[in-house]
Amino acid sequence: MIGRIVKKITISKEQIAYQHKRYYNKTMIKNDEYFMKEAFKEAKKAYKKGEVPIGCVLVNNENKEILARAHNLREEKHDISAHAEIIALKKAGQKSLNWRSENTTLYVTVEPCVMCAGAILQSRISRIVFGIYEPATGGFGGKIDLTKEFKSNLTITSGILKDKIQELMKEFFEERRQ
Ligand SMILES: [Zn+2]
Repeated sequence: MIGRIVKKITISKEQIAYQHKRYYNKTMIKNDEYFMKEAFKEAKKAYKKGEVPIGCVLVNNENKEILARAHNLREEKHDISAHAEIIALKKAGQKSLNWRSENTTLYVTVEPCVMCAGAILQSRISRIVFGIYEPATGGFGGKIDLTKEFKSNLTITSGILKDKIQELMKEFFEERRQ
């Protein structure tokens, strides 16, 4: 057939962007790197507030839902316990009306300090993932390993997104020194 009229369909840039986003969200693999990036976003929020840039997210192991997100707020709250991990655990507890966080994984940019490591063991979290070790205060191998002291079954993974996290920490402390 000659001269057939084909209906012209125009799609706006916004529609294309929307479709892309939908596709991206659907196909996004929710792996350790994905969640560490979410924790990193939290760390950047702390950075902007002048807090030591540490962030975390607590994730349900079964449906991969983020149960709580938090960043360090020690300066803002004038509170030594306002570390990202403690805030996230408190939030999750309030949300589920249960202090136990079983079957969850905590993604935190920097190895938890001894205080937070203690709280993490108390909370029954099953896995912890962090980016870099903290040799001065770390409770999961950097300074001491509480999992050994308490014979805990907590699974530890480290090194995720480590270069980016290292850089953010370095930048923060260099700026402070100036
Ligand atoms: Zn801590």
